[in-house]
Amino acid sequence: MPSFACKDIGMDCKFETTAPTEAELMKKIAEHAMSAHKMATIPPDVMAKVKAAIKK
Ligand SMILES: [Zn+2]
Repeated sequence: MPSFACKDIGMDCKFETTAPTEAELMKKIAEHAMSAHKMATIPPDVMAKVKAAIKK
């Protein structure tokens, strides 16, 4: 199952999540970025880091 940990992109944050698919995982990450990190949209450089940090 794909998983993501916020600390893996250098954030001082304990958020970790898993989802059955990478698309659902990205949705959860986007929601977290919005609520916890005040990112209305995820900037392309952060998005690249997120994709590289996703464990499959
Ligand atoms: Zn976070």
